[in-house]
Amino acid sequence: MRAIRVSEFGGPDVLKVQEAPDPVPDSGQVLVRVKAAGVNPVDTYIRAGVYARKPNLPYTPGTDAAGIVEAVGPNVKRVKPGDRVYTNGSITGVYSELALCEESRVHPLPPKTSFAQGSALGVPYGTAYRALFQRGHAQAGETVLVHGASGGVGVACVQFARAAGLTVIGTGGSEKGRALVAEQGAHHVVDHRAADYEKQIMSIVEGRGVNLVMEMLANVNLAKDLTMLAPGGRVVVIGNRGSIEINPREAMAREAAILGLILFAATDAELASIHAAIVAGLETGTLRPVVGRELPLAEAPQAHQLVMESGAYGKIVLVP
Ligand code: NAP
Repeated sequence: MRAIRVSEFGGPDVLKVQEAPDPVPDSGQVLVRVKAAGVNPVDTYIRAGVYARKPNLPYTPGTDAAGIVEAVGPNVKRVKPGDRVYTNGSITGVYSELALCEESRVHPLPPKTSFAQGSALGVPYGTAYRALFQRGHAQAGETVLVHGASGGVGVACVQFARAAGLTVIGTGGSEKGRALVAEQGAHHVVDHRAADYEKQIMSIVEGRGVNLVMEMLANVNLAKDLTMLAPGGRVVVIGNRGSIEINPREAMAREAAILGLILFAATDAELASIHAAIVAGLETGTLRPVVGRELPLAEAPQAHQLVMESGAYGKIVLVP
């Protein structure tokens, strides 16, 4: 099979297409023929060698794919060869023609969801569900600020929150990104690069503050987020790329909470709940992953550059 292999940590050019032996599924394992592989920012941190978890070299990147079950090992019960599936984790990596997965990491892909959309689910929709409901305890009737709503996780947050009865304020840094956020169901859309964007948000909520913030860039925004919270508000820190000074009094005065999130910390029971919600949302049509760009597998280096640039528009996907 053809796969992207990384033999040393470094810049995007360490992502090389190579031939590798086809994996053979063992007990409880599923071999997936990958039709699309989602590119997540975390894939770039791991490739650069700056992430807390470092794989043994050489390795094939990626956790989120969609495709068709090629073969199953003994004792696999939930899927069979020929089934359409998406993955949220893989033993051998998914930037590849074939990916070996534990059975628990493979989920049914409803017929109306394309393979490219299916590769946009594992990390983005898993993170969005965990942020809103498992960490943020979102309730219908509350107001959520999706701070960075134009990318993979943000679009998923907007769709989940809208379907759950929250009032959704989404932000984007480009006109195209903001148009996308509006199309996904946000009630209000704001430019997070505007000098007065907090004023705009406070005016939307008539000074009451927001109940929840889904924060994609905490090192830039956390101090301001705290000032925009309603009493009892919660900020879920999803993305962060540095440090920031905050005034704890802003949290104190509102009895607010700053909640960290790391998807890898989700338990098996939490993951089962997350994927039940994702599959149900795909089936009912409340979840509609947005694929902004599809690139051939060999262009993984370009995909890793693009995913770190501003002007997000849904997901970047690799096609083997
Ligand atoms: P993405 O598709 O690249 O999207 C990035 C988003 O951040 C875009 O909406 C972008 O908007 C926005 N952004 C850029 N500058 C911003 C600013 N100043 N204020 C607010 N938002 C800003 O990435 P993603 O997959 O959605 O992931 C988002 C972040 O969450 C990444 O840092 C990722 O590593 C992290 N993440 C963490 C976990 C976890 O387990 N904790 C899981 C998944 C993702 P514009 O481009 O329109 O400006």
